[in-house]
Amino acid sequence: MKKKTANLTVCLLLAIGIFMADTSTPLGIAVGALYILVVALSAVADSAVNIVALSLFCSGLLVSGLFLSPISAVPQSLVIANRCIFFILILLTGALGIYGQRMRQTLQARDAELVVANAKLELLALNDGLTGLNNRRGFDERLDAEWNRAMRDGAALSLIIIDVDLFKKYNDSFGHQAGDTCLVKIAQAIQLGFRRPGDFPARYGGEEFVVLLPETDLQGAWARAEAIRRKVESLEIAHPANPNGAFVTISLGVASAIPRANGHRGVAKLIEAADKALYDAKEAGRNRVAQASTDRGECGEQPSP
Ligand code: GH3
Ligand code: MG
Ligand code: MG
Repeated sequence: MKKKTANLTVCLLLAIGIFMADTSTPLGIAVGALYILVVALSAVADSAVNIVALSLFCSGLLVSGLFLSPISAVPQSLVIANRCIFFILILLTGALGIYGQRMRQTLQARDAELVVANAKLELLALNDGLTGLNNRRGFDERLDAEWNRAMRDGAALSLIIIDVDLFKKYNDSFGHQAGDTCLVKIAQAIQLGFRRPGDFPARYGGEEFVVLLPETDLQGAWARAEAIRRKVESLEIAHPANPNGAFVTISLGVASAIPRANGHRGVAKLIEAADKALYDAKEAGRNRVAQASTDRGECGEQPSP
């Protein structure tokens, strides 16, 4: 808008200059005024048709004016030369106006394309290519944001870390591609299992997933984790090398905190606690949920189970 006003001002000043130079005849005044109109419209018009129409109209008036102009004290050759200059100027201004308008439209279209492309890139940067879940980067960003929000609200924030059991053996038995398909199925089960708008599942890396559960205490998170464990088991994806029922299973570690302090240390402690719980679940025989022990740490209170 500022640019438009500046363009308009420059054009008006130019037009007024020409207008002053041609005040020797009444028709000159009329032509000058028309020229100002063309210049003003060309600078701000959104439609090329308007510019063409006005330029042609003014040019027509100018040509007819050549025959009608009363010649007073001014020599006729000067009047003709003056009209010719205005004629060319009006047509040139019209053409420039259309060119400028096309450029504006092209730039606006490019801007819109850039916004869409940026949004797509942002999405790609935060999404996991295989499973379509949020990726590790997306999770890290969200964890920081949720931690701060939970601290402001004095609310509990829970984290579940999920690891596929004996997945190396699954790959060894069925190949890497079958392994990928299996990961996609597990990701879908996880995604469908967490439907609250704030719940945030992500692929943490390899065969590990995480779920962030805002405003959820340890008991609530444990219940959700157990439901997901059962859900994956019920997919009945054959895994003969798994002693826990010959199907693919997962182990889960759950931790919860009521954040009391800002910063990465608290966040790191929450991840560490969930990771430790996952380790306990593996140690206890896999295909189970384990929760972090209750203690007071830098990350805040761990609500009792
Ligand atoms: P545990 O129960 O102790 O977790 O045993 P595990 O075999 O699952 O654990 P380990 O860390 O030994 O092996 C993880 C395997 O996950 C090894 C790797 O081949 C596999 N893996 C990691 N990422 C992918 C992936 O994107 N696709 C496939 N197909 N396999 C993957
Ligand atoms: Mg692992
Ligand atoms: Mg594993």
